[in-house]
Amino acid sequence: MSNRRRCPRGLCAGQQRLAGWPLWICLTLALGAAPWGQMIAGSARAQIEPLGLVLPTDNAAIFSDRPEDFYMYVHRSFEGQAPRPWSGGMYGNVRTPRRFPGGVSYSRFHEGIDIRPVRRDARGEPLDEVRSIAAGRVVHVNAAAGGSSYGRYVVVRHDWGYGPFYSLYAHLNAIDTEVGREVAGGDRLATLGYTGVGIDRERAHLHLELNLFLSERYDEWHRLRLNSPNRHGAYNGINLVGIDIGALYHEHRANPKVALPGFVSRMEPYWRVRAPKRGELELLGRYPWLGRSMDRVDAAASWELTFSRSGVPLRIEPVEQSSRGPELVWVRESAVPHAWNTRDRLTGTGARASLSASGLNYVRLVTGDF
Ligand SMILES: [Zn+2]
Repeated sequence: MSNRRRCPRGLCAGQQRLAGWPLWICLTLALGAAPWGQMIAGSARAQIEPLGLVLPTDNAAIFSDRPEDFYMYVHRSFEGQAPRPWSGGMYGNVRTPRRFPGGVSYSRFHEGIDIRPVRRDARGEPLDEVRSIAAGRVVHVNAAAGGSSYGRYVVVRHDWGYGPFYSLYAHLNAIDTEVGREVAGGDRLATLGYTGVGIDRERAHLHLELNLFLSERYDEWHRLRLNSPNRHGAYNGINLVGIDIGALYHEHRANPKVALPGFVSRMEPYWRVRAPKRGELELLGRYPWLGRSMDRVDAAASWELTFSRSGVPLRIEPVEQSSRGPELVWVRESAVPHAWNTRDRLTGTGARASLSASGLNYVRLVTGDF
């Protein structure tokens, strides 16, 4: 891949002249050490597009004072109670409460939001149309209901000018689109359904995600590291890392100019790893705004990558210190077992933590070093 192609659209001013320059010179010129905000503000020519988000179904109750009308509940069984909390349909650590010495915390992460249907036929079959949340291109259609825990699902690629993001629509019934189709926000993709794992007609909903993309080499990593077939190429859910689309809808409503680099940078950091620097990072080529102190990259022996609790990469920095392999260098102190907060990627509690086997594998996927 040429350096020119690695420079994301518009972020390298004068891209034509920079073709053939080393990637880091190009990125440094484009970004300097400026925080992302300045970068966006200073790049009027960078064709940063407003998100133009629309809701994916006719259910608009996310903006009402009745969130229970928007989010599909989950069945819960905890300490003799069997409630059906709607909050289990939100994004985040909202599922599977467990008791620990300090109280109760949630041990399972939900990477998207579950949206209730608003139309059903006499038998209870959901009828809601599912539509693209913004302009983009359909890049993946899984039409086999049994081929994924998502059931039938569609992935749409969006490019707002700072690297691609991917919306994912899961548990669909009938899919009415195909790979390669250009869509506008609000264009029909499918009918809401209840295909996939852990769902039935009563709990039919649209599971919606908005994701960063980790690695073009995902399939290779999957074959090496996971003992299961990969039917979805790079559009396997593991390679797509979800941000809080529910919170984004609210931010977007308050400020239609909200941009995703800033939204991501405002997520709470939870853990940081140091990993040997072996050439360029594919992820930084795709999302250069994740980079910090990139003027130090030539002298660096390692990368330090900071993640949210759920594993969203928040920033990447070259550092002089060497490392023999991915190692945890910082964790947010927590009385809750780190495994619950981090999708089992860390072990330990309090200020002590280390990478689990799956955490190590995850870092290898993110850094491309596997
Ligand atoms: Zn869901």
